Amino acid sequence: VYMFDEVDPSKFSSTEDLKIHFGGKGAGLANMTLLGLPIPYGFTIPCKYSLSYAETNKWPDHLKDQINESIAKLEKKSGYIFGDIEKPLLLSIRSGAPISMPGMMDTVLNLGMSKAIAEKMAEKNARFAWDSWRRFIMSFSDIVKETGREPYDEIMDEFKESRGKKLDIELNADEMKDLGELYLKKFHELLDKDFPEDPWEQLYASINAVFNSWNSERAVAYRKMNKIPNYGTAVNVMRMVFGNLNDKSGTGVLFTRSPMDGEHKVMGEYLINAQGEDVVAGVRTPISMEELKEEQPDIVKQIFELANLLENHYKDMQDCEITVEDGKLFFLQTRTGKRTAGAAVKIAIDMLDDKIIDEETAVLRVAPEKIEELLHKRISPNEKKLPIVRGFNASPGAVTGRAIFDCGRAIEEKRANQRIILVRKETKPEDFPGMIASIGILTSRGGKTCHAAVVARGIGLPAIVGAGELEIDEEKRTASVGGEVKFKEGDLISIDGITGNVYIGEVEVVDPEITGEFSRYLVMCDKYRKLGVRTNADTPQMALDALKNGAEGIGLCRTERMFNAKDRLPKVVDMIVAENLDKREKALDKLLPLQRQDFIDIFKVMDGKPVTVRLLDPPLHEFLPDYKSMVVEFTELRVKGDKGKRFKELEFMLKKYEELKEENAMLGHRGVRLGNTHPEIYKMQVKALIEALIESQKAGVDVHLEIMLPLVSHVNEFIRLKELLKPMAEEMLENADLVPKNPIQWGTMIEIPRAALTAGEIAKEAEFFSFGTNDLTQMTFGFSRDDVEAKFLTKYIDEIYPPIMKDNPFEHIDIEGVGKLIEITVVDGRKARPGIHVGICGEVGGDPHSIQFLHDVGLDYVSCSPFRVPVARVAAAHAAI
Ligand code: PEP
Ligand code: MG
Repeated sequence: VYMFDEVDPSKFSSTEDLKIHFGGKGAGLANMTLLGLPIPYGFTIPCKYSLSYAETNKWPDHLKDQINESIAKLEKKSGYIFGDIEKPLLLSIRSGAPISMPGMMDTVLNLGMSKAIAEKMAEKNARFAWDSWRRFIMSFSDIVKETGREPYDEIMDEFKESRGKKLDIELNADEMKDLGELYLKKFHELLDKDFPEDPWEQLYASINAVFNSWNSERAVAYRKMNKIPNYGTAVNVMRMVFGNLNDKSGTGVLFTRSPMDGEHKVMGEYLINAQGEDVVAGVRTPISMEELKEEQPDIVKQIFELANLLENHYKDMQDCEITVEDGKLFFLQTRTGKRTAGAAVKIAIDMLDDKIIDEETAVLRVAPEKIEELLHKRISPNEKKLPIVRGFNASPGAVTGRAIFDCGRAIEEKRANQRIILVRKETKPEDFPGMIASIGILTSRGGKTCHAAVVARGIGLPAIVGAGELEIDEEKRTASVGGEVKFKEGDLISIDGITGNVYIGEVEVVDPEITGEFSRYLVMCDKYRKLGVRTNADTPQMALDALKNGAEGIGLCRTERMFNAKDRLPKVVDMIVAENLDKREKALDKLLPLQRQDFIDIFKVMDGKPVTVRLLDPPLHEFLPDYKSMVVEFTELRVKGDKGKRFKELEFMLKKYEELKEENAMLGHRGVRLGNTHPEIYKMQVKALIEALIESQKAGVDVHLEIMLPLVSHVNEFIRLKELLKPMAEEMLENADLVPKNPIQWGTMIEIPRAALTAGEIAKEAEFFSFGTNDLTQMTFGFSRDDVEAKFLTKYIDEIYPPIMKDNPFEHIDIEGVGKLIEITVVDGRKARPGIHVGICGEVGGDPHSIQFLHDVGLDYVSCSPFRVPVARVAAAHAAI
């Protein structure tokens, strides 16, 4: 147990280390003592004791002695005596976790009071004495005896009402004393015990209460949510300074700069004649620093000076607690202040300009995860509405719209200029037109890499997926929770893709805060990062959005997305159901000009930058109309005896569907397997690409084309297609008498463990690699990417204890398994083809945690959704520093 001035921060390897021993508050108090700030004297019981107490339910032998000795030191230093009637030493007992957990941990104030002490203190300042006494009874009962403060707040409210008073400060000394008596009675009534008058008993019990608060249900839940380790909490015992002594006293909180927008100005809230708990409990409306300046200019001057001193010491924005006792200022706590992403960027740039921090530190001051906040609308912090359910936060942004349960209707509503949120159990490729007609997506199934999530993130549409508690009845067009209908088609709902929360009705949203400092910050990040940042884009609009966000190329253009456009699907279906090659080629001929135009448009937007185009990947049956709807329609016609054209059509389509359908389509006839068995499809796509290249280059566009083959597992799959397609492309160029300004590159995705393990072989043939970690993760774990989160993965992570897995590998790369395959690929690939260009286009390519690993393993670039490009730029800079 250490007095504040006995802790030597220089003995610890870092501030973090100091905090792990003494908690954030203890570390701050030790530092403030060193800096000479006015703080009430006291001591810290290190975190480890709360851990041992949680295990054994008792203290080690020496702890009590050390606490008693520390109290003796405190008595000597302060001139007050613990439990003494004449000169009582009163204490505050404060928790202090290593990582701040706002509102989770406990504090007891005014400890050491008894009625006899209050009586004596009352001779000097009666109102203050009785106010402190009644506060202590409440705080001890609430925190130590776990009764909550409500029973006491009720007494206070009734008491004020019976006397026609509104605020606690209107109560006089006698009234405070009466209140205290009522509180004592309540204490007895609630606990069947008298209030303990012995200060030592109060002290030990309060320390244990703070220890226990580390494992309270809410603290455990908070730690789990924020992935905070089980460090334990420290306990800080300090001499009370009284903000409720008189009107020259008070208590407040302050930030050395604005946590909302980063403005360089001390901001605070202050309550005159009050104690800290009043600010939290909101008993009165606090005043601002400006208002306080009018009443106590000297105090405000001191606050500003000391805030500045602290900020210069920590070189970061601080969040402090202060108390003024009879005109004398004390600091009770300081910690690095939490802030919005906008504030983080502004503070980093301002501190850099003021030479408080260097450029690298400035880059590191903004967490990449926070960057998304700056790019999407968010729910206002003032919104009071509670969510009805929560799903996975699949794609950020907050929107309000009318709930629509099917895609056709979504498109109609969009035409009628309605803002709609598409509500489905899940989405399929054919739902794409309905999805882009919506302003948000909500599904009850799926995880972070399900179709709905990937598409929504790709096009920057706010989305929540896998809201499992929501029972969606697509037929009745209702959504229920626990059997109760919460909303139906046409009702207004709101979704927040940042938190995953779903609300009924409208919510208040705030605009993205893109500022001049933000772009300056991003350019600064570019200076440090080694990884390139490309984007996954399938349309010119997505490419444009990505360019605005700083993308340096397209790392993945999924051509099947182009097949999904509404006017094309019938042509795609014709191609799929064609009975022979001749008919299929005819159908492909109709698709060719459409694909060519897509590529021309994309090349134009990406002028001068690389564009990686992936040939068709999904299994063909995915493009056919929904199987269940076909069966329903077919059965209806049969019951009616209608065997007309539509019946025949459906009969044929159902037969085709049965032919094409596979039990395990994700491991089935897709990617290069499709390309090798139906080469006419890839031939059409390459033809469209080369025609587009010829036309674009002639029009002066600088095309860097990279053609990418998906799902290779055996090198021969690649060789055969390359031998078929490359000469065809070369011949076309020759016939057009055109030499591409940049040689066309032929490469492959690495999505199957076998491809990774034989990367050396494949690299002899392929000119570049791109990791498709969505499939690579699926196939390495044997986890179905579309089902696993809802079925068991969340249980593995959150419900089973100890957890089977720490993270979702579709969200954060699995370094030990998938990461190992990546390493093997990079090493063997570069051995076989020195300098081979290697990137990643799976979803983890935009995830900050994964980017650190991808940087370390030496990839050339990451490719991610347009809206994640700035996040990747920041994360790549963090990784490089
Ligand atoms: C992947 O598998 O990581 C990938 C990018 O391809 P897709 O998501 O289209 O299967
Ligand atoms: Mg894939």
